[in-house]
Amino acid sequence: MATLVTFHAHPDDECIQCGGVMRKAADEGHRVVLVVATRGELGEVEDGFLAPGEDLTTRRVAETHAAAEILGVSRVEFLGYTDSGMMGEPTNEIPGNFWTASVEEAATRLAAILTEESADVLTVYDDNGGYGHPDHIQVHRVGLRAAELAGTPRVYQATANRDEIDERRAAARAQGEDFGPPEDMKIGKPAVELTARVDVTAYAGAKRAAMRAHASQIAEDSFFLALPDPAFALAFGTEWFIRDGQGPGITETDIMAGL
Ligand SMILES: [Zn+2]
Repeated sequence: MATLVTFHAHPDDECIQCGGVMRKAADEGHRVVLVVATRGELGEVEDGFLAPGEDLTTRRVAETHAAAEILGVSRVEFLGYTDSGMMGEPTNEIPGNFWTASVEEAATRLAAILTEESADVLTVYDDNGGYGHPDHIQVHRVGLRAAELAGTPRVYQATANRDEIDERRAAARAQGEDFGPPEDMKIGKPAVELTARVDVTAYAGAKRAAMRAHASQIAEDSFFLALPDPAFALAFGTEWFIRDGQGPGITETDIMAGL
């Protein structure tokens, strides 16, 4: 048995980015630990969704624990920073948020968990944080430094396959349909930079159930959940990573291989 620590910026990122590898590792008998930098304080919620007097942060923490259970997580930790909001927003500058945090200080907090858990594998994000959100970019910087401090042997940068998204968007458009994120949003990395492709089709049901647990953020009629099962499995049934020292091309199909 080995230990996978998976590091994320906000509640719900874990199931979208790594839900498959988390449930897969748990099913194979590994320990899975989820660390989230912020409580997603700046998420938007529809009027009337929260109960009178209920605050969004409390709700998002509860949703994270519910999703974590579905994904087979044994331990959930929040690093205690606040959400920085989208790039360019005034909230980027608020002290105490993750974006303005010292990388060294945040990495020390995460490294303490990695050391305590004797983590074998850590997942972070690519250097653009998948799509440029400041807290996601910070997950990359803090995560890599924490792995260095703790001596964590394997680090995978969770990302998306940009070429594949572009192809699917073009195909959808040819059918007169919409697909996924807007074209001007640079998502993930070019296929040529990816080194690990994990087939998580078998865990698509768990991944979807975990997304549903984040009901304050992922609506039933959202792009994520509105897809019929086969389309969902196609869109979310593969998780892509970059690991330094691997490649060129896909050289791994399992982030827990050999452990
Ligand atoms: Zn996020």
